[in-house]
Amino acid sequence: MPSREQPMTTAVVVGSGPNGLAAAIRLAQAGLAVTVVEAHDRPGGGTRTSELTLPGLLHDDCAAFHPTGVASPFFASLGLERHGLRWLWPEVDLAHPLDDGRAGIAARDMSLSAESLGDDGPRWRRIFEPIVRRFDDLIAEVFQPVVHVPRHPLTLGRFGLKALMPATWTAARFGDDPARALFTGVAAHAFGRLDTPLSGSVGLMLTGTAHAVGWPVAEGGTESITRALLAELASYGGRVVTGVRVTSLDQLRDLVGSAPEVVVLDTAPAGVLDIVGDRLPARVRRSLTRYSYGPAAFKVDLAIEGDIPWTNEACRRAGTLHLGGTAEQVAAIEKGTVRGRMADQPFVLLGQQYLIDPSRSSGSANPVYAYAHVPHGYTGDATEAVLGQVERFAPGFRERVLAVATRGPAEWEAYNANYVGGDISAGANTARQIAFRPRPALDPYFLGVPGVYLCSSATPPGAGVHGMGGFHAAEAALSRLR
Ligand SMILES: Cc1cc2nc3c(=O)[nH]c(=O)nc-3n(C[C@H](O)[C@H](O)[C@H](O)COP(=O)(O)OP(=O)(O)OC[C@H]3O[C@@H](n4cnc5c(N)ncnc54)[C@H](O)[C@@H]3O)c2cc1C
Repeated sequence: MPSREQPMTTAVVVGSGPNGLAAAIRLAQAGLAVTVVEAHDRPGGGTRTSELTLPGLLHDDCAAFHPTGVASPFFASLGLERHGLRWLWPEVDLAHPLDDGRAGIAARDMSLSAESLGDDGPRWRRIFEPIVRRFDDLIAEVFQPVVHVPRHPLTLGRFGLKALMPATWTAARFGDDPARALFTGVAAHAFGRLDTPLSGSVGLMLTGTAHAVGWPVAEGGTESITRALLAELASYGGRVVTGVRVTSLDQLRDLVGSAPEVVVLDTAPAGVLDIVGDRLPARVRRSLTRYSYGPAAFKVDLAIEGDIPWTNEACRRAGTLHLGGTAEQVAAIEKGTVRGRMADQPFVLLGQQYLIDPSRSSGSANPVYAYAHVPHGYTGDATEAVLGQVERFAPGFRERVLAVATRGPAEWEAYNANYVGGDISAGANTARQIAFRPRPALDPYFLGVPGVYLCSSATPPGAGVHGMGGFHAAEAALSRLR
């Protein structure tokens, strides 16, 4: 356990997402008296689980699959399994079905993928085996700000050259649709254009992660991660206050009795502007005002009777499915979505967590998780478009639907202020914001006001449940305190 170097220093973390809780734990480990303040009546941010459709069916409200969670060096250092966290892996991590009945699949067992990709199998191996071999080194490099002194320069350099290329360029290296679509669907997790520089980086990293550590779920729902982080924080004496939306730094003084020496914000840059306001140096304020937000998610949670009747057999064993057709179709949909056009057949990400975690089901009713990429601030209803995409690859699916619950951009923003316009990544993944988040700076966590830091997914390494933004922000605060 790290030494208790500053026993009386107080810290407030605003927001209890995985980054907020990670920051709180790291500060508490160092001996600070930590209070986390959360607007929602339950802690957890993007890591909550609720009964959204029928009683007894557990749906992940936001994050569902945890490649970044199992790969996170900070989570690993905490030993969250001691607090009941258990990862469960699907046999097939990811499947991308096509209209002709074929599907590209990704699994920890790379030979399953290679088989599904036919003649593209050997090329798939050539691209992803080096990432898997050097996975730990690579994670150590990419889970921190772009500007740093690399400990594994060769590994980072080789990866960086490929990551600079557009996703469409990498997809075009394959000869057939399953491999091209499989890679493009993963790259689409960035919610951005797929034909611009750096747009392949997310696809390369997340596909490599599928082969190296898999895309597991948390037993009992993603909220198990929150419970484990809260237990860890409590073990260091940290406390959490819920149901309080922070609107100014002065409010924190009243909440903890004196002005905290350290404030860490697990908010979007829009939240920083609200809370810190005029105290921000002009250059920081300008950068955060210019920070851009990306397309939104429209979520459709379903209760279904039995299973989804996928045409492709491997899809029936997959945790995650990407529904959008060929690589060309997915790239065109994403380009239109970024430009504000709602597609008739949007890109849909679907989760069958119940296949590996029966504790989420009730009798023969199973929870299914799906969301479509829609334009920023989209005000329409994408439910039919989502159901249509599932029916396209699983005829007869609609007859099995028992109940539906939806959440569009406006509801997302009301649920979590970080999802500006429904952007669940807390910021667009443009080339500039992939490289420099939230602004070009040697220390992207420091907000230019003594003691005030940002730790959300608007900081490196970006979106995902990994807590690394929180860890690095806390480290930045601790090193300035020292
Ligand atoms: C539909 C959906 C699907 C996703 N799928 C995945 C997935 O499968 N895998 C994955 O790794 N990631 C996924 N994500 C992304 C992941 O959830 C986020 O990247 C992650 O939760 C970000 O963590 P964070 O701590 O930065 O912020 P958040 O988890 O967003 O938490 C921020 C917290 O701060 C609180 N807050 C904000 N402003 C204030 C304020 N002024 N005062 C008090 N509290 C405030 C919010 O209420 C919230 O609880 C998904 C997200 C969504 C919405």
